Amino acid sequence: MSLFKEEHLECPFCHQDVPFILHHSINVGIHPEHKAKVLDNTLFRYQCPHCKQTDEVCYPTLYHDPENEIMIQVLWREEDFGQPMDKELQSLIEVMGQKNYRRREVFGYCELVEKIRIFDTGLDDFAISLLKTLHEIQNQEMQLFFHEKTGKELCFIQFKGDELLPECFILDESAYETALEYAKKWQKHHEFYEYLRVDESYFYDDVMRALQQEISRK
Ligand SMILES: [Zn+2]
Repeated sequence: MSLFKEEHLECPFCHQDVPFILHHSINVGIHPEHKAKVLDNTLFRYQCPHCKQTDEVCYPTLYHDPENEIMIQVLWREEDFGQPMDKELQSLIEVMGQKNYRRREVFGYCELVEKIRIFDTGLDDFAISLLKTLHEIQNQEMQLFFHEKTGKELCFIQFKGDELLPECFILDESAYETALEYAKKWQKHHEFYEYLRVDESYFYDDVMRALQQEISRK
């Protein structure tokens, strides 16, 4: 099911009323045309009919790809992550045959797009998050977002603070293969109904522990 509702927003530039469709859930099985608009962010943007300025509207939404069995919840506040799910919803997931879904919670649209690209490329997001964790420990002011895989190269978009850098960060497939081994070794137990936050924080403690052991061995 796709859920959407027309709302009226106040344009932050000219303060006039702007109609905007909020998509509380996006089902790309029913509306395949929405996927491209999620990937290029236009589903969440509008152009003011009065002053012609464009703006992004940030709100929680659920991205649902039934064919690939993916559900990604987009959140914007730290306190909304990791909320428990009640028993009724848990059994509903089983009844609806969605037990093997990959469920994720992400912060904002950048992370949503990244997850879709990871899954579309057939990569494991635990392994990608591990690569990002390692990179962030070594380059604390940098943030990576997976973009695409071309040949044996994994390309990441790089942010330095809020600034998007013009060049991609490239990692070789062999680094990914190694990360995948560790990601499998370190993966934690989760219930099928949980929405997981698989980002740089997921393996942070494991990586730090491994680095400590490495240092103490030397
Ligand atoms: Zn306006």
